[in-house]
Amino acid sequence: MSELPYPYEAPVSQVLFDRAAAVTPGGVNSPVRAFRAVGGTPRFMVSGTGPYLTDADGREYVDLVCSWGPMILGHSHPEVVAAVQAAVARGTSFGTPGEGEVALAEEMVARIAPLEQVRLVSSGTEATMSAIRLARGFTRRSKVIKFAGCYHGHVDSLLAAAGSGVATFALPDTPGVTGAQAGDTIVLPYNDLEAVQEAFHRHPGEIACVITEAAPGNMGVVPPLPGFNQGLKDACAKNGALFVSDEVMTGFRTSRAGWFGVEGVVPDLMTFGKVMGGGFPAAAFGGRADVMAHLAPAGPVYQAGTLSGNPVATAAGLAQLRLLDDAAYEKVDAVSAQIQALVSGALAKEGVAHRLQTASNMFSVFFTDREVRDYEDARRQESFRFNAFFHSMLARGVYLPPSSFESWFVSTAHDERALDRIADALPAAARAAAEASA
Ligand code: PLP
Repeated sequence: MSELPYPYEAPVSQVLFDRAAAVTPGGVNSPVRAFRAVGGTPRFMVSGTGPYLTDADGREYVDLVCSWGPMILGHSHPEVVAAVQAAVARGTSFGTPGEGEVALAEEMVARIAPLEQVRLVSSGTEATMSAIRLARGFTRRSKVIKFAGCYHGHVDSLLAAAGSGVATFALPDTPGVTGAQAGDTIVLPYNDLEAVQEAFHRHPGEIACVITEAAPGNMGVVPPLPGFNQGLKDACAKNGALFVSDEVMTGFRTSRAGWFGVEGVVPDLMTFGKVMGGGFPAAAFGGRADVMAHLAPAGPVYQAGTLSGNPVATAAGLAQLRLLDDAAYEKVDAVSAQIQALVSGALAKEGVAHRLQTASNMFSVFFTDREVRDYEDARRQESFRFNAFFHSMLARGVYLPPSSFESWFVSTAHDERALDRIADALPAAARAAAEASA
């Protein structure tokens, strides 16, 4: 980083990272945090307030990751903190039913018309895993269609990469996932309805569900083409399969009713996480009451969790959702648009080929001049330019997702001062991107 104008080292974070690496594989508890894609020392954060994070070296950053989505009100929102403190004071886990989980479920169901019932869990991974089990139990079928580049958590059967061509049976994407676990997963190119129809044609009566990110943010932001989600829904309905819309990332972020609120396509099942937990481990899956009725103890499909519906997590989630009114979404949308314009302007000024893609207020920058419609397109970008851009922004106090395959997230707390910081950092970062070489 010697070309940067001022010191960039993070000595305290480095010491913590070394300590972490001794006791934790790779020094992190979730791989992307390790900065492997962009290189350098991951910043260990010690506090967050509004749009800012402060690291262990005492440096403050404008946060454009927002904990990968949950912190839509910014960090340490006073009303969320107060709700959490009150809940903690009453006790942290009972292992019994409690009113908080009812109130959170009611709030979710009230916002999203097709969401008739929900079951609370603790992570997005659990939500998608359970939704798939339920879809299989309900349809009594085995196969699942997913799309290359869509991430649904680290569910064994969903950690499968696409082979080339259409309707390829998946190979496991990671050691530890067996061929049998991945063998019932059909991985198709995103935004390709023909491939979906072809898969249904080849496997009549075998496909339990199609699962898709409602609007993908895990290959960078690649929105569904007009009619794609409706086409999935129609193909499922025609073939007796369930349409599972993964709203873990988009839910309660892209509108008050998530991506459903933007597009209006009615899924059979939906999954949620991130925003609905207010920064705590709370997630959910839900949808049609007749399908959810198959879940234990009402029905035969087993699913459970010691900490499911945890009173502290549900208090945080409920407090956050109740603050997310129309004005809050207008604010997030406006902040997002402003940052997009700043980023695009700076890159254009330096002649850097790029595409800003959006799904409501989620957005990401691809370093390519071509539209990105699927994972193959996303992989064709010049990621080395992002890496230079990332480090230049980091050095100037702006914390971006440490990978070019991730959405950026903003909050209601991103104010003029935060936007000024971003604007000030961008010219040098755009220059770094322009000058970067592979
Ligand atoms: N589904 C989507 C669309 C996600 O973006 C994620 C996480 O980023 C998950 C599922 C998994 O959620 P979690 O990390 O809470 O297990």
